[in-house]
Parts: sequence; structure tokens; C-alpha cells
Amino acid sequence: MWSTTAKNGTAVKLTNTTNKPDPNSKSFSIHCDRNTVMEVIDVNFPHKPPIETQLMYVEDIKLLGPKQHVTKLQATVVKVNPPTTVNAWDTACEIKECFLRDKTGQIMLTLWDKLVTLVELNNTYEFEHMQTRAFRGIPTLTSSRSTIIKPIQQSKVFLAGQEPKVTEDLDIQTTKLISKPQGAKIQIHKLCPKCHQSQHNFNPKQQLHRCTTCKVLRQGKNYLTKCSGIIESGLFSYNI
Ligand SMILES: [Zn+2]
Repeated sequence: MWSTTAKNGTAVKLTNTTNKPDPNSKSFSIHCDRNTVMEVIDVNFPHKPPIETQLMYVEDIKLLGPKQHVTKLQATVVKVNPPTTVNAWDTACEIKECFLRDKTGQIMLTLWDKLVTLVELNNTYEFEHMQTRAFRGIPTLTSSRSTIIKPIQQSKVFLAGQEPKVTEDLDIQTTKLISKPQGAKIQIHKLCPKCHQSQHNFNPKQQLHRCTTCKVLRQGKNYLTKCSGIIESGLFSYNI
């Protein structure tokens, strides 16, 4: 019943609820229990979407904490890292890190798979349905299956005289090794140039290779090379 009324934007009247103060804000939350009665009613004002379906700002997103839904953000791409691949759920996924800026601040967004081609440096977009993450304690964003990216005009985001302050987290992906490396394990992956999937049984001595996933036969030299591995030092191992 809740989801039906939410979907239809129907007004309801609740009786027998309790109000509890919300420690995170000056408001209170309404608690329903088994005594609560919900009736569908008519009201003489239009349906207004809840605040969380409206535009959000980087400043507020950074306060959300990890694994929170970000409904809508309008921001300019101020830095793009080269795409890389990572192994997630046993498949090679292409990711691209980009840095988004709006008038309130700057945040990193990790784009997954087909979304990596959708953003370009210095362009401004509306991003819908992202998730927050924390990378070494720094708030970041990640795309999800439902993420939508639409180009918009920059003037919508930056109004005159509202240059954002540049924050220090542009290069948070750079890791400084301060102890001497004692060993490295490097793995070389070959990726299909079309479907970007990791190849099994790739033989560099053979001229032709058939993609494990999309089954297209193409020259071995056209497959992409991706290195990953671990650098070991006396103190820790670090994934590269
Ligand atoms: Zn393929």
C-alpha cells in the first residue's frame, strides 16, 4: 500500500502515529505501528515530490555517509583518469574515475562499464541515481545500474561569481609507498577490444585469437593489455 500510494502520488491520512524527534535534524519522524490506520484521501494541493528526488549538492552528498543514494547532481567534469579494468564478481569491469565539481565542492565519481564513455572533460552533466562510498575515509561516488547521465549547459551549475573552492582530494588515488618494496606479483590480462572481457587461454604466439566472450576472431595484437598485481613491502601489500 505504501509503494502504491508513493507511485501514484496519492494523498493519505494517517491516524494513531507517534512522533519521534530526529537527532540529525531539527524535525521529527513519524512512526507507524500496527495501530496506525492509513486512509486514502483527496487534498486540494498538488503532489510535490519528496526532497530526496530533487537536486543535491556536493557539499551535502559528502555528509551522507557511505552506501547512500544520490538522486540528482549537476556537476562539471574537472578531471578524468584513464579507464582501467578491475575484477569484480569474477568478470573484468571497465572503470573510469572522474572528478565532479559544482558550486559547493568537488567529489570523485567512479563510472562502471558502458557509462565510462559518457563523460568528457570540462563538460557538465546531470547525474541521476548514484551511490556514495568512502575511499580511505574520503566520500566518493559510484555509478550503479540505474545511473543516468545527461549533458546539460554549464551555466545551470556555475552562476557568475560562484567559483567553487578547489579541494585537496583531486589526487586521492595516488598512493605513496614509503617503505622499500620487497617483491611484486604482476599479472597480465588480455582484454577484448570490443566487449572488454578478460580472455582465457590467450596465447601471444598465435596470430589470431577468438574472444572468450563475444567469440569474434581477431588479431592477437588488437587485444588490450592490462596489468594488475601486488607490491609487497615489509609492512604491507598493496594492490596495483
Ligand atoms: Zn569480445
